[in-house]
Amino acid sequence: MMRKPIIGGNWKMNRGTPSEAKEMLVQLIPLVKGINSVDIVICPPYTALSAVNNILKNSNIKLGGQNMYFEEKGAFTGEISPKFLQAVGCEYVILGHSERRNIFNESDELVNKKLKKALEMNLKPIVAIGEHLEEREAGKTKEIILYQMNETFKDITKEDMKTIVIAYEPIWAIGTGKTATPEQAEEIHVYIRELLIQKYDKEIADSIRIQYGGSMKPENAEDLLSKNNIDGGLVGGASLNAELLAAIIKAAEKTTN
Ligand code: PEP
Repeated sequence: MMRKPIIGGNWKMNRGTPSEAKEMLVQLIPLVKGINSVDIVICPPYTALSAVNNILKNSNIKLGGQNMYFEEKGAFTGEISPKFLQAVGCEYVILGHSERRNIFNESDELVNKKLKKALEMNLKPIVAIGEHLEEREAGKTKEIILYQMNETFKDITKEDMKTIVIAYEPIWAIGTGKTATPEQAEEIHVYIRELLIQKYDKEIADSIRIQYGGSMKPENAEDLLSKNNIDGGLVGGASLNAELLAAIIKAAEKTTN
């Protein structure tokens, strides 16, 4: 089955001023102009969302948030409502990124609540899962993935699953320069699809896009993206540079020819 690749650029807490964002995007937009066989999403810090939305108008690049809260409004100082994300043009939102889970103690239960709210608000969730280095070394990767899949997607209907993108991000590969080999990543992507067949059915498992994330760069993107079950990338470091991100997007485009 042909799934449309999706490349997401997660700027994290970088390029957060409107001018920093603009500097990168005025380079990126012409580099990826006309590429319609790949979904391209940029997720800047909240403070740049509005400016980025204006810059991306009439381009083939979509906007996403890096996180959100599970309520629409109220006394939640410092949190961001899905409604606010929508109002500034976000179509996507990253949920459960390992930095949220590890630094800010977000549990699977919290990610599940956020996921339900994002779906209710018609935001397209990019849900990140992945194991720590010690877990991989202890041979527990599949056990961890099984647990995260069960808890994060608890009570999510088959219909809702159709709008979700899963990002498999081995934590030991994020921002470390260590990339999972294409074979290591593919093995877990296949496993995630097997779990989706067990929990839902083959149609869902075949249609869901599973991105790889973890030090993806132009040098390794083609090998990773050419694997049957790797449908894109969630890119941190390399997404801050227009030429690097464009090269990754072009590697994804190549897989569609
Ligand atoms: C990420 O932030 O999701 C990520 C994969 O970062 P990096 O590409 O820098 O490893």
